[in-house]
Amino acid sequence: MGIRLIRCKHCNHVNKFGARTCSYCFKPTSFLNRILFWVILAVGLGMVVYLNTDWMGR
Ligand SMILES: [Zn+2]
Repeated sequence: MGIRLIRCKHCNHVNKFGARTCSYCFKPTSFLNRILFWVILAVGLGMVVYLNTDWMGR
C-alpha cells in the first residue's frame, strides 16, 4: 500500500516506483518515473526546510 508502481512502456511489466530500468526487459523506464521521484523528494525536503525555518514566526 502507498507504493506507486510504474508500468514498463516496452513490455508492460510493473516496476517499482523510482526504478531507472525495467526489472524484466532492462530497458529504461519512463522519465516520468524519475521526475515524480524528484518532485516528491523536493516536496519532502521543502517541507523539512519550511518546518525548520522561523521566517514567518519572528
Ligand atoms: Zn520492460
